[in-house]
Amino acid sequence: MRLLLENVTKAFGDVLAVDNISCALDGGQIAGLVGPNGAGKTTLLNIIANFVRSDSGRVTLEGDPLPPGLAAYVPEFPDLFPVLTVWEHFKFIATAHGISQWEPKVLEYMDKFNIGGKKDAFAGDLSRGTKQKLAIGICLLREPEILLLDEPFSNLDPASVRELRNQIETSKSPGRIILISSHNLESIQHLCSRVLIMNQGKLVRNQKIDAILEEMRNKGYRSLEDLFLEVTENAGG
Ligand code: ATP
Repeated sequence: MRLLLENVTKAFGDVLAVDNISCALDGGQIAGLVGPNGAGKTTLLNIIANFVRSDSGRVTLEGDPLPPGLAAYVPEFPDLFPVLTVWEHFKFIATAHGISQWEPKVLEYMDKFNIGGKKDAFAGDLSRGTKQKLAIGICLLREPEILLLDEPFSNLDPASVRELRNQIETSKSPGRIILISSHNLESIQHLCSRVLIMNQGKLVRNQKIDAILEEMRNKGYRSLEDLFLEVTENAGG
């Protein structure tokens, strides 16, 4: 399966948030979308999720336009219902989407991701990390072909980042494309096989992680951050 973006452009007034972006993402892949604040990452995810309409260009999956709802999107601050419990969230999504036999799947999921103890906790009382895990969990219940995660690691402590990274890693599947926007370059390096770098609306890099890491080493940089800063400063204008 292949998600294709062709010449996708979106402006907000004078600001070209997404500037003629073209790229392809393949099933089984976790891709990282990085870029400085205001680069256009969230706008691009919103276009793929069908929340924002691009001014021009096309987004297709296997050649067909993406119908609304096909891509599952987890925003930086997930919209959970504060007075529903963790279990009730899964029940709500299963009912809304007509998913049968969901209970064993959810029990297994909660066990695997260490949120079984929070089954009856209200979402409003959960830590940020557990909220993220729940938000991703309810998306996965729909078995989405495209999973979009916007800043999943922001404001998480190192242990929660690691747990969430494991969760995302295990969500990888040949029939699924995962695209993660993040400023956490270490997590991107760990998780992603491809990295897209945006700056001022433009896609300034689209490379396999191995190629990026090789370039990083060849340039004597110690971290992906050094290369990221070079790329975004040079392209910044
Ligand atoms: P960050 O890393 O800070 O979340 P980002 O890379 O996700 O940034 P976007 O949120 O996509 O960037 O914003 C790209 C540009 O588009 C910014 O200049 C932003 O101010 C502008 N923008 C985004 N959404 C809107 C909107 N609804 N109305 C007006 N301008 C917008």
